[in-house]
Amino acid sequence: MYSITKEVYFCYGHRLMNHPGKCRHIHGHSVKAAITVVADTLDEQGMVCDFSSIAAAAAEFIETELDHNFLLHRDDPLVPLMEQAKQRFMALPEHPTSEYLAKLIHDFFKAKGYRVRDVTLWETSSSCASYSET
Ligand SMILES: [Zn+2]
Repeated sequence: MYSITKEVYFCYGHRLMNHPGKCRHIHGHSVKAAITVVADTLDEQGMVCDFSSIAAAAAEFIETELDHNFLLHRDDPLVPLMEQAKQRFMALPEHPTSEYLAKLIHDFFKAKGYRVRDVTLWETSSSCASYSET
């Protein structure tokens, strides 16, 4: 099986409201998402797919929706305050962990028709979380 991986860099703010440590406080990350797409055979250009195709899809979701956004669990008491202050944010049905963000990115690419093997989100240079369906 062939695979290619495209790395995409973006930033976001969040907090993990039930975290026992410092992650319960508002903070931000500059992250790298590595999106791996697979194929059993190569296309007419000898590729799994063009890297620029993945980059364009990433721009559609990651750059537009996630980058420089503030990610909160929908039950976070900060949600009404963000609305009141007219601040940009995204309310999620799960805690905004790197694990869940990897799944969100995976699901977006899958819905676009990509055969995604996994998405890995590097929250720091030594810590990453991955999501795959297998
Ligand atoms: Zn964090």
